[in-house]
Parts: sequence; C-alpha cells; structure tokens
Amino acid sequence: MSYQVLARKWRPRNFSTLVGQEHVVRALTHALDQNRLHHAYLFTGTRGVGKTTLARILAKALNCETGISSTPCGVCSACTEIDSGRFVDLIEIDAATNTGIDNMRELQDNAVYAPTRGRFKVFVIDEVHMLSKQAFNSMLKTFEEPPEHIKFILATTDPQKIPVTVLSRCLQFNLKQMPREAIYGHLEYILGEEKTASEPAALRLIAQAAQGSMRDALSLLDQAIAYAGGKVSEDSVRAMLGAIDQDYLFKLLDGLARQDIKAMLAVADEMDSRSLSFDGALQDLATLLHQVALAQGAPDALGPDLPQRERILALAQQFDAEELQLYYQIALHARRDLSLAPDEYAGFSMSLMRMLAFRPIEPGAVALAPAARTKPEAPGARNVAAAAPAHAPAGSAVPGARKVTPVAPVLAKAFDGNWPALATQLKVSGVAKQLAQQSELRNFDDESIELGLAFSAKHLADKVYQDKLRDALKEHFGSAVALKIVIGEISGNTAAVQAQSERQARQGKALEAIQGDAFVRDLMDTFDATIVSDSVKPT
Ligand SMILES: [Zn+2]
Repeated sequence: MSYQVLARKWRPRNFSTLVGQEHVVRALTHALDQNRLHHAYLFTGTRGVGKTTLARILAKALNCETGISSTPCGVCSACTEIDSGRFVDLIEIDAATNTGIDNMRELQDNAVYAPTRGRFKVFVIDEVHMLSKQAFNSMLKTFEEPPEHIKFILATTDPQKIPVTVLSRCLQFNLKQMPREAIYGHLEYILGEEKTASEPAALRLIAQAAQGSMRDALSLLDQAIAYAGGKVSEDSVRAMLGAIDQDYLFKLLDGLARQDIKAMLAVADEMDSRSLSFDGALQDLATLLHQVALAQGAPDALGPDLPQRERILALAQQFDAEELQLYYQIALHARRDLSLAPDEYAGFSMSLMRMLAFRPIEPGAVALAPAARTKPEAPGARNVAAAAPAHAPAGSAVPGARKVTPVAPVLAKAFDGNWPALATQLKVSGVAKQLAQQSELRNFDDESIELGLAFSAKHLADKVYQDKLRDALKEHFGSAVALKIVIGEISGNTAAVQAQSERQARQGKALEAIQGDAFVRDLMDTFDATIVSDSVKPT
C-alpha cells in the first residue's frame, strides 16, 4: 500500500473536524442551516490555515444529495467525488498560475451552463489576488449578475490586493493562524490514530516550527516519522529541524544571571564553531525568555510536559520581571538587525553584551524601598540596582539605596505646563515619540512630571520607551526629571489629538474652498458631479 501523506489523509472532511477556526465554522453553519446563502465567499488568512479545505467542505454542504446543510453526508456520490477531487461541478482554479484574462473568459463561458451533477456549480479561485486587472474586470461581469446556479469561493493570503468592487460583493471570513496548542493537540490525535509513538516535547517543537500553519505542521510530522524511522522523539525532531540545542540557551541565561560575559561569549564561540544559526538562536532565546517570564507570572501556563520545565522554573527565580522584558526586547531587536550586523556572530555577541550593559536601572529615578521588592535579596545575591517603580514618590531617598541622582528644581522655571507643545519639541523618535505625543499632563512640580496615558496606548509605556522619554526630558531641561506614567482614562489634551484636530480644521477649510469655487460649481452642475471629500488635500 502506498503511503499517503498525513496532510492529505487527515484533511478535515466536515466542519466539525476542522481545527482552530471555530468562529468561521459557526457563522457558515448557521447560514447553511437557515438557508441564507450568499453567492460569493472570500476566505482570507495566511498559508496553510485551511482556506481551500474549508472551500471544499462548503462545496459539499452546498451539493450534498441529502440537501443543503452544515452536515453533508460524506457518502453520497457528490460528497465522495468532491472529497476525491473529481466532482465535475467543483471547478478549482489556482490564480497563481492562471492569472490571465483568457482563464476568466473560459470561466465565464463555463458559468453560463447549468451544473451537470450538483445543485450548484462551485468555482473555487485560490490566491485570487494574483489575477490580473483585466481578469478581475472580466470576472466582475459574472460577479455582478451571477446566475442562480453559481457559487464563488475565493481564497487569498493578501486581501488588500483585491479590488474593492470584488471585495464588496463577497461575504468575507478571516481564518486565524492556528494556535500552537491546537496544532499540538491535532498532531497528538493523529499519531494516536496512526499508532505511532511520540514524545510530547517532539510534538511541541513541530507545533512551534509550523508557525500557525497546520499544513506545515503535518508535513513536518511526515518528515519526522520518516527521519526517526519509528518513535517521533525530541532528539530526532530537534536534529531534523536543526533546532538549537536548548542547553546552549540555558548556559547563556545562566551566564547572564551571573553577569559573566566571558561565559556567555564562550557559548557564542562554541555555537559559531558548530555553525549554528544565530538567527535561529535569537528566536529560540526570545521563546525561552517568554517561557521564563511565564514561569514567573503564570507557571500554570507552562504546561506540565514542556521540555526542560524544571530549568525554566529555576531561571525564573534568577531574574526580575523587568529584566526579562528587556532581554526579550533586545533579542527581538537583535534578530531584526542581524542582517545589518557586520556578520552574524558580531550581531549575536553584541546583543549578549547589550543585555549586560543595559540592566534595568532607572536613570534619574530613586531606588525602590526594600519592602516593595518582589523577591527578597538573598545574602550574596547578584549585585543589581533596584529599579524604581512608577509609584515611587519623587525625591524620597531611601536609606541604603544604591544610586540616587540628585534632581534639581528646574521645571518651575522652564516648563509652562503646556505638555503637548513640549511633547512636539522633545528629541525623541519612534515609539518614544508616540508615548510623548499620546500622553497628557496630569501633574507636575519642580522636579517631576506625571503623565496620563490611555489604556489603548499602554503598550507605548514600555520601560525602554519611558527611559528614552526620560532621557529626552533630561536633555531638554538640562537636568534629570522624575517621570511617572499613569495608565487610565485621559481627557484627550495630547499633542496627537491637537495635531489631528488641526489637520481636520485645515481639511474643512480646504473642502469649503473647493465647494465655494465657481469653476468647481460649474463642473458639478454641468456633469452632475459630486466632490469626493477624501480626495481634497489642504495645500
Ligand atoms: Zn452527501
């Protein structure tokens, strides 16, 4: 018997076995059971999330001989022929290879005729965004006045490339990336049915490597079965994926906890000598840091069968939550910048040194009272400056604090309380600039500024960006300023809101001017034209 690849063999054949897309399934099920049919559907989502699988199930639901329903029988000739890909009234077109107008003409000619076998002729157009402009235009004719017996199911990874005229005639569903847990559960189920032994950690590695695509997960699983030649073990999957041996990463974090740069660079050298991918290492390092942070905040979320669970829990004891956030950011940025680095080794080792160089010490802020520390400092513990929490009262020096930067009372002279104006002057960029422009003044005194930030923008208050803003304030006033950011409701007196209302006012004036223009009025009267207000731009 020939081997059938798992993705084909385990392709879901009805809505109830489709994993991870419950929201779409629910909507389609209701529509089918209440016979509220649309003539065109659009499924969007990244590759391998089940768009064409869903299209085939929908085609069965529409054509099953027992009637239109969300539970096609699966045994009638229509159902079985659709499953095996030889149903004459299901026409699947891959727009990636059939982009031209001729293909669409053919489709139109075909659409005129009634279905041969089924209730509906179903056209599935995959990667529909690849169609040429003419092909779209020609398709539109059929789209605008579709014959009763036609259903269109369009699938795309890139809905933004589809003309609005087509989009507006489709019922659109967005398929989500598969959550790792859903992929893991499905792999486990399939191997159970296939009676193939496996280690949970191996399946977790595959689920992670599949990056949200069930199809990729299943083809990796196929490879893993072939590679392992029996039990799908963690070692074999790790070797197959070329995944970085976790041991390296643990050694790196151990070194980081001890602030031992030599040990960390030795690990990097060893990885280099084995030609391991530093890009992959940074990705895995970020994953591990995420797990350590989880272990700190919500250990239950780790899952009992996580590989190296004990070591992760141990590391969680060694770092502060803030440190983990910072290292995670550094790993992400290092990965983004890796292509700019002189070489991968340099990029990687610089990121390790950066982790040590930028240990979280709040500049210009006072140290935190011992009582507020989340974990007691054990005797002989690593020498870390305590970070100040946002609620530390400015200027209240704590006995025994390691680092207190004196704050000069400068604000009273130099700041008039107009935060939006100051926010636009500060030398900050990127996210820190957004933080400045989207926050509003709550309070200030001689040496501190308290800002409010809306819940919806709270991601801007990341420590890294607060620090940048604090630096910019220091530069502006020539002296350190204690900055506090309070997340909550704001009234909207921010630089961003001001800029927006100014833009709107200018836009309003421009529109008025256009509407009042005699020549424009003439055009409108003569040609029965209207002004597309969005197209008016103030000079
Ligand atoms: Zn059927």
